[in-house]
Amino acid sequence: MRVLVKGAGVAGLTSAFELAARGAAVTVVEARRCLGGNASWMAGGMLAPWCERESAEQPVLDLGRDAADWWDAVLPGHVTRAGTLVVAMPRDAGELDRFASRTSGYGWVDEDEIALLEPDLAGRFRRGLFFPGEAHLDPRRAMAALQEKLAGSGVEFHFGVDAKDMAGFEREIDCTGMAAGDERLRGVRGEMLILHAPDILLSRPVRLLHPRFPLYLAPRANHHFMVGATMVESLSTGPVTVRSMMELLNAAYSVHPAFGEAAIVETGVGIRPAFPDNLPRVERKGRTVAINGLYRHGFLLAPAMAQRAADLVFGSDKPAELADETDCQRRSA
Ligand SMILES: Cc1cc2nc3c(=O)[nH]c(=O)nc-3n(C[C@H](O)[C@H](O)[C@H](O)COP(=O)(O)OP(=O)(O)OC[C@H]3O[C@@H](n4cnc5c(N)ncnc54)[C@H](O)[C@@H]3O)c2cc1C
Repeated sequence: MRVLVKGAGVAGLTSAFELAARGAAVTVVEARRCLGGNASWMAGGMLAPWCERESAEQPVLDLGRDAADWWDAVLPGHVTRAGTLVVAMPRDAGELDRFASRTSGYGWVDEDEIALLEPDLAGRFRRGLFFPGEAHLDPRRAMAALQEKLAGSGVEFHFGVDAKDMAGFEREIDCTGMAAGDERLRGVRGEMLILHAPDILLSRPVRLLHPRFPLYLAPRANHHFMVGATMVESLSTGPVTVRSMMELLNAAYSVHPAFGEAAIVETGVGIRPAFPDNLPRVERKGRTVAINGLYRHGFLLAPAMAQRAADLVFGSDKPAELADETDCQRRSA
């Protein structure tokens, strides 16, 4: 079966993988000239279904709990399974209790245990929450590796081409995110920074709770750190604002003052596609299956969404249950 995948974000790449694995002849078309620059490129890469449950509905946990296994199986060596550490400044200590009351899969850690997990944070926080089952990856390295793997296994890529200009496919998977033109979608702007801090070593994402600006640091290779991310109801792709920059830098500095000496190597903005209930959808209309609304959870939920899309393409879904199959909220209610 010849299948066209529109969009080379995380939804498109994971779909291409699932379809090719089931024997489809897959072509991926991407409007940008190369991989990157989209929402997926700006992501933190946290595979954190238990932490995300703090603000997300149960389906995010249900659909995301196997994501690290999927990424690990597809891209061995890319997933770091070191959990997530959640901390708060003493004045915001109540935020930890609130976060704990809305989540599961954690243990409380005291100052000594925090120092054991992250020696560079010794003495900085009196208590925190540790989510041992969580993982993270570098989204850019993962996307590049996945594209290379797909290309190596015969998936065709066309960059700098609008999907409208492609024809002759039996099935199409629409993974164009905000560009899909779905009137139900809204954009949630996420601003992020990448810092280079040679004096700091963190082994896992560290979330700093705050009543208004909960932010996180996700470690990357060679003492680089992604600091993210704002949540602004806006479609603007304009540069990071001064207010957001101050909040992001404050968070980094609060986690460790040595971030004061870090170099800001990148600022970026991504628009998260979100449905009104902030849950993703896989929907079929005729020959097209659309994956969208990945919101804050693209890397976490794309594997499950891609598998479901492939089920629909190959007809292994049961038509009578299609509505339930495509509506995550109802399915897990
Ligand atoms: C700052 C930030 C941090 C985040 N952190 C995390 C995180 O830690 N963990 C997590 O799981 N998620 C995270 N997310 C969420 C995640 O990034 C998104 O949910 C995900 O990227 C959405 O992926 P997508 O493939 O649907 O869209 P996109 O990545 O936007 O990809 C859509 C692609 O379609 C292409 N396209 C559009 N129109 C056409 C066309 N006509 N023809 C061809 N191609 C087209 C676009 O160019 C684009 O490349 C974060 C998001 C942001 C912004």
